[in-house]
Amino acid sequence: MSQLRKLRGMVDLLPKQTSIWQQVEAIARAHFIRAGIKEIRTPLLEATELFSRGIGEETDVVGKEMYSFSDRGDRSCTLRPEGTASVVRAVLENGLLSQGIQRLWYGGPMFRYERPQAGRQRQFHQIGVEYIGLNQARSDAEVIAIAWNLLKDLGLSELTLEMNSLGNTEDRRNFRNQLFEWLHLRQSQLDPDSQKRLFKNPLRILDSKNAQTQSLLKNAPKLKDSLSEESQIRFKSVQEHLQELGIPFKLNERLVRGLDYYDHTAFEVTSDQLGAQATVCGGGRYNRLVEQLGGPPTAAIGWAIGIERLILLIEESSRENPSSKATLLTKELPPDIFVVNKGKDAEKKALVISQKLRERGFKVELDCSSAAFGKQFKRANRSGAKWALVIGDDEVKAGKAPLKLLQNSSEKEELLKNGQLHPLDDLESIMNTLLANELQNNKTT
Ligand code: ATP
Ligand code: MG
Repeated sequence: MSQLRKLRGMVDLLPKQTSIWQQVEAIARAHFIRAGIKEIRTPLLEATELFSRGIGEETDVVGKEMYSFSDRGDRSCTLRPEGTASVVRAVLENGLLSQGIQRLWYGGPMFRYERPQAGRQRQFHQIGVEYIGLNQARSDAEVIAIAWNLLKDLGLSELTLEMNSLGNTEDRRNFRNQLFEWLHLRQSQLDPDSQKRLFKNPLRILDSKNAQTQSLLKNAPKLKDSLSEESQIRFKSVQEHLQELGIPFKLNERLVRGLDYYDHTAFEVTSDQLGAQATVCGGGRYNRLVEQLGGPPTAAIGWAIGIERLILLIEESSRENPSSKATLLTKELPPDIFVVNKGKDAEKKALVISQKLRERGFKVELDCSSAAFGKQFKRANRSGAKWALVIGDDEVKAGKAPLKLLQNSSEKEELLKNGQLHPLDDLESIMNTLLANELQNNKTT
């Protein structure tokens, strides 16, 4: 029978990769906990209307990237392409706004029917933050700072924070009209995609990747000239807060973002190390979305980081700078101890000892194969464990077994190389050796 394969654009994460994913997720979670941001989990499947109403019909995401289908009850369902609309729906549906300002994070798979390439998949993962119910410029700066500090803490250095202000609804309407008129006169000079966007969503043309369109846009009306004084003051204030936080940024007046719901602050974190898919984090203020989804007028701001791109960046940073924190994240976490065991009594004893050591918090890999000692030693070395406890029937009879250093031994450790004997019925001595080594490692690193 032919072998089955995964769908195009879907990716299996193998154990070699899940180790880095878990570490990245744990660091992100720690940042959110420290900032008092609470987790929310929403369904992967939503009513299609949530996204068509929330994100906007004319966007790439809703227009051509959604995984939508009718379920058995003939309801149009969509696998979520992003997190914000779902979070807002859940906040409204569960009455969370009556409990005050919501500071939330989410994580998990998103689905977009795109052309798969490096850093672009059909199922990908995001981690994101949403502040709902805050409109102060200071909250924009805090939300941006949380993303920036997280990326920095992951050992990434070659990052650029780009910002723009899209102004309020009226600013944007004025600009949209001006831009439309200007581009309409030059329609034939636009690339085919931008020509299509001209009538539906002219702002998106600013985001075009086409070089000729970009060069034409150099002389186009500028968004910043359409900003009201109030919007300008607000944007200035966000910038000042970021300066106080020591977060560097660049203004990019072409930055408009792909979803329709943004206003005022929009931002992206990009890296030269990502090739064409340069954006690792995107976000902005969306003061109209809550109302569009049936709630009371409520200001909000958020961002999403693409985890696949984030991990590509961590791997690249580690290659470029092997001593960076990024390198630590790319290393699999090895067991503390590998238990080599063979023989009827030895195998029973090893099972019990492994469980006891695990109960005490050690990471223990037990070889359950009953293979020859030589084979088990090879596996022990491959496991990356520092220590091997070697138990045969003779050791069980004697009540003592050798603990051997497997690798990375420094001079002093060489002394122990042939394995000091440790009692098997009182694990204190084994545990002390493992702990002493841990302490010594921490001191030297
Ligand atoms: P792009 O312009 O690269 O398509 P986007 O504007 O569509 O990005 P957002 O909707 O802002 O992206 O999503 C936030 C982040 O999620 C992106 O910056 C990126 O890191 C990640 N992302 C978006 N689409 C994909 C995808 N198809 N595969 C992998 N990551 C993605
Ligand atoms: Mg996209």
